Amino acid sequence: MNDCHVHSNFSFDSDVPIKSYVESAIQYEYDAIFFTEHCEFIENNKFFENYIKEIEQLKYSHTLFIGAALEVDLPYIERIDKSILKKLDFSLGSFHQLAQSPLEYYINLLDKLSDKDILSSIDALAHIDFPLRNDDIARTFMKLYNSDFEIILYRILKKLVDSNKVLEINISNLEGNETRASMIFYCNIIQKYREIGGKYFCYGSDSHSLADFRLSYINRKKYLDSLKLNESDFVIFKKHKIIKN
Ligand SMILES: [Zn+2]
Ligand SMILES: [Zn+2]
Repeated sequence: MNDCHVHSNFSFDSDVPIKSYVESAIQYEYDAIFFTEHCEFIENNKFFENYIKEIEQLKYSHTLFIGAALEVDLPYIERIDKSILKKLDFSLGSFHQLAQSPLEYYINLLDKLSDKDILSSIDALAHIDFPLRNDDIARTFMKLYNSDFEIILYRILKKLVDSNKVLEINISNLEGNETRASMIFYCNIIQKYREIGGKYFCYGSDSHSLADFRLSYINRKKYLDSLKLNESDFVIFKKHKIIKN
């Protein structure tokens, strides 16, 4: 088992030391854990160097593989010095700008993924269910599922498949109030992705606390069963290479 989406205190919105997650991951008998810090922190060189150093120090002292990664907001990529990405195991692209509607959100996401610089800078796409994190949108979401929506989603997934990018299954929304909408959406997306030829998924708890991390571990099997996914469907990354289970 592994987790490709965890935030430590190198992210602005978590106060958990890397070491504490590592201890939990060992306890849960995980094989790999990846720290995907919010990208803004790389603006502080020293901070970023400390991050890499801390991971390097821990990396080989455990049976657990500990990976360095970044959660990069897609519009931010043009500002990133690409040599930084080379120091990481992978970069997880995410898009956090909510639009007027889910359709508009996905049109904007497709637009970002159509940018070669952006697409080539990421290894996986995070939380494709992001608009569902907003309660109001989630409630009306299923009604908005129409043909325009299908076409845009298809194009997004096709972009990922054609460029060998991995689709993250972000389970953080499956734990909230809108479980049903997110679950139905993911089931649909996974099926489409596979129909197009998509093979690679990565598992993301999107933990910002040890409680999140624990909850993800406890509920993991339940969610995977509902999504009809197996542990063997999930890949990890080492120096931007996809490693199968
Ligand atoms: Zn965060
Ligand atoms: Zn995240």
